[in-house]
Amino acid sequence: MPKTLLARNAAVLVTMDDDRREIRGGGLYVEDNRIVAVGPSGTLPETADEVIDLGGHVVVPGLVNTHHHMYQSLTRAVPAAADAELFGWLKTLYPIWGRLTPEMIAVSTKTAMAELMLSGCTTTSDHLYVFPNGCRLDDSIAAAREVGMRFHASRGAMSVGESDGGLPPDALVEKEADILADTRRVIEAFHDPARHAMTRIVAAPCSPFSVSRDLMRETAHLARAYGVSMHTHLAENDNDVAYSRERFGLTPAEYAEDLGWVGPDVWHAHCVKLGEAGIKLFGRTGTGVAHCPCSNMRLASGIAPIRTMRCEGVPVGLGVDGSASNDSGHLLAEARQALLLQRVGYGPSALTAREALEIATRGGARVLGRDDIGHLAPGMSADFAAFDLRDLAFAGALSDPVGALLFCAPARAALTVIDGRVVVREGRPTTIDLPVLVERHNRLSETLISGG
Ligand SMILES: [Zn+2]
Repeated sequence: MPKTLLARNAAVLVTMDDDRREIRGGGLYVEDNRIVAVGPSGTLPETADEVIDLGGHVVVPGLVNTHHHMYQSLTRAVPAAADAELFGWLKTLYPIWGRLTPEMIAVSTKTAMAELMLSGCTTTSDHLYVFPNGCRLDDSIAAAREVGMRFHASRGAMSVGESDGGLPPDALVEKEADILADTRRVIEAFHDPARHAMTRIVAAPCSPFSVSRDLMRETAHLARAYGVSMHTHLAENDNDVAYSRERFGLTPAEYAEDLGWVGPDVWHAHCVKLGEAGIKLFGRTGTGVAHCPCSNMRLASGIAPIRTMRCEGVPVGLGVDGSASNDSGHLLAEARQALLLQRVGYGPSALTAREALEIATRGGARVLGRDDIGHLAPGMSADFAAFDLRDLAFAGALSDPVGALLFCAPARAALTVIDGRVVVREGRPTTIDLPVLVERHNRLSETLISGG
């Protein structure tokens, strides 16, 4: 007998399905980890192993985070990196990150995931690209499994250090043969291509300014041989573009195309300066973009032209980016910033609230190459979140509860369900002892930053 869950009587249930249905008094019925029925509560089975009444709540598909560096939760708001652009910010923080330990990776991953789940996020990627002192991707995968979050673990890498004209210190780069061997190892050990998979592996050299052409090409061959996605940073700001032109004689988009880094199995973070031709290329090839508005503002990188990208057919998802350049991991807040920033750049109709929510759900699912998450319908994974409309933040905003979710102060999820399992109940994580975790996280952060 499958385990069943019935969530019903939502003020509004936003399906984000192909018809973008919003159901007043809606609910869903779940068997094990899959949605079996979605609709007005009166049309659903009357009982289940667990019944949750969502009166006064708005329910949305679980949000999808397409770009993060969770270890950076240990180095938020570091004063020396507080007022720098990308390259200066990185150079300040690299030596600190060089002291990371496996325990720090595990704890910071849990902290970052707690933040995400409390913001309604159910699937996240993480781009880990520093592996000092015995750190491994395995450390963050183990943490994700403990916490119960759907996880796309990106095996990042840096191979071109300062002495070879790259940005990172030599001590933080790995040999390319080792990177490829370890990427192969984690794919074979952890990657699950099946529908409803909780763990997938992504091949993800850090950026054009920290790895070689060869590694980018070899990674693409390896990823495609195994059928895993590829991810990196691209065209983040003007200096990033200048580096690409100087070193490779190509724009970032041309460089990506030259390397075979375009296609529906590839997504790039930022793309603030992708350019008109780059946007057309990405649209034509179905290459995805992880839009990270808070980070782009924090580092003064610019405004990614998301409106234009969507018009040109570029798949766009949302990313909180690393916690050292955000310095938050609240995905609903990120959707709000996406909405606001697009308007700063391109006018009041550049993005609607519902489009911002669509990018955060369906958009992210497409970017990660998944057909089982991002909207609520029978056969989809049971990933959803509920927000309490009686919260102070929504006072006076109930004429449009869905719009309110994006326009009002970013709320905490009251309920988050991942793969049919309640991971946030009444606004509290069920798989994490939050005060204990935060205390441990802060202790490790102090050790890391002080070098002691
Ligand atoms: Zn990033």
